[in-house]
Amino acid sequence: TALVELTDVSKHYGNVRALEGVSLQVHAGEITCVLGDNGAGKSTLIKTIAGLHQHDGGTLTVDGEETRLASPRDALDRGIATVYQDLAVVPLMPVWRNFFLGSEPRKGSGPFKRLDTGLMRRTTREALLRMGIDLRDVDQPIGTLSGGERQCVAIARAVHFGAKVLVLDEPTAALGVKQSGVVLKYVAAARDEGLGVVLITHNPHHAYLVGDRFVLLRRGTMVGNHTRDEITLDE
Ligand code: ADP
Ligand code: ADP
Repeated sequence: TALVELTDVSKHYGNVRALEGVSLQVHAGEITCVLGDNGAGKSTLIKTIAGLHQHDGGTLTVDGEETRLASPRDALDRGIATVYQDLAVVPLMPVWRNFFLGSEPRKGSGPFKRLDTGLMRRTTREALLRMGIDLRDVDQPIGTLSGGERQCVAIARAVHFGAKVLVLDEPTAALGVKQSGVVLKYVAAARDEGLGVVLITHNPHHAYLVGDRFVLLRRGTMVGNHTRDEITLDE
């Protein structure tokens, strides 16, 4: 069964039909790309899957169970992690602190017992290495990393903390060709770790490089929903 399935989902803002009759499936070990120009409904779709708002019509199922997501925390508790374009990082904080932000291990029993920051540093380095990211200095402020590297850290973080579904909001939008390639490599690595990935992009080329399924939105409606086999040009 699909990790996440939207069936005939709609979302209206007043009389703006931001989404109308959208259906898609997110499967483990697959990348579902959502394509569309500005105003197509991509952000609205993300908000529905990330628990930022609730849909008006249709059904959303997570792990086979029909549901409505009450909040981003609720979505995360169900294994849905979202990485936004303007990553919620604290630029002056070291990479390893950002890695654990919101998921800090509990302090030891004594009131003055400190967190094992050495272990947190090692864990960060290993989680990044697992994805093929060799970042030697996890003490550097995360703001010194490039936009692409920050995306990679965010992806590794979702994998490390056990997300089942990873929603990526235009991860390559602000990046050049080379950085985009690097980020897409880690998107594929997350898929290879068994996550179901939703890749939101307006770049068909990037989608085709890594995607397994392709959903095309236009002005809130779904004008295409295809597997890779269905759009492959050769025999
Ligand atoms: P995309 O992310 O693909 O650019 P959006 O999901 O942001 O598209 O927007 C889809 C449509 O819904 C657009 O017409 C947009 O103007 C409208 N819209 C989005 N959010 C709101 C809102 N909070 N209030 C009113 N209209 C909105
Ligand atoms: P994107 O292209 O990434 O969707 P936008 O600039 O279109 O970004 O939208 C930024 C935010 O403003 C989103 O949260 C979107 O839902 C909201 N928004 C978009 N269009 C409208 C609108 N017409 N009225 C109110 N909010 C909107």
